[in-house]
Amino acid sequence: MAEKKFWRCNVCNDIHYGMAGPAICPTCSAQNAYVEIEKKEAKFVMGFK
Ligand SMILES: [Zn+2]
Repeated sequence: MAEKKFWRCNVCNDIHYGMAGPAICPTCSAQNAYVEIEKKEAKFVMGFK
């Protein structure tokens, strides 16, 4: 069973939590822009939103 991970859009810093990053960012419509990040990095990024 796969583990859920945090993903961040390279373009708009949108955070997604799930099995994989969205193929198309729902916020900025960038394609394949999501990169896997550490949980603490996700908290850091979200804290600055
Ligand atoms: Zn985006």
